[in-house]
Amino acid sequence: MKRIALFPGSFDPLTMGHLDTIERGAKLFDELIIGVFVNTTKKSFFTPEEKLTIVKESVQHIPNVRVMTQKNELTVDVAEELGAKFLLRGIRSIKDYEYEKEIALMNQHLDHELETVFLLAQPKYSHISSSILKEVWTFNGDIKEYLPEPVYRALEEKRENSEKQ
Ligand code: ADP
Repeated sequence: MKRIALFPGSFDPLTMGHLDTIERGAKLFDELIIGVFVNTTKKSFFTPEEKLTIVKESVQHIPNVRVMTQKNELTVDVAEELGAKFLLRGIRSIKDYEYEKEIALMNQHLDHELETVFLLAQPKYSHISSSILKEVWTFNGDIKEYLPEPVYRALEEKRENSEKQ
């Protein structure tokens, strides 16, 4: 049986921290599916369609990774439909651990068969989040090294378009 994992997240936008988790996670499973999902508690910067395109471009060098999106379904239901028996998540800090524990235990309640696998963020990425990078970008700070190339390009295009308006 193929070992399939789902990495759900809002990826708004994808960072080098996410990409590192994806590259390491892809080595653990036969197939890793990235679920670009809507987090109802966060206001989105990129549309789901934009995120899908950007994430696809950023992971095209990893053969066993694919990307999907959906809007209105529970992660556990999506995992079941995809045949994924594992969820992949990243942990940067104690704060993430507390948050991730709640989600993982709730998902375990909803589906006993589904295991959440956590990868610790590398120290060089453990201080970055999509929100802090967006904040710094808004004020023109240099964050290039923390963003995959397609993400950086999309952000620059956004800036150019907003300057034209
Ligand atoms: P969500 O809104 O579902 O938390 P995120 O896109 O913010 O989605 O994060 C998706 C997953 O990636 C989470 O498990 C988060 O802890 C992890 N993550 C976020 N930033 C990093 C990083 N810099 N390094 C490693 N993992 C990260």
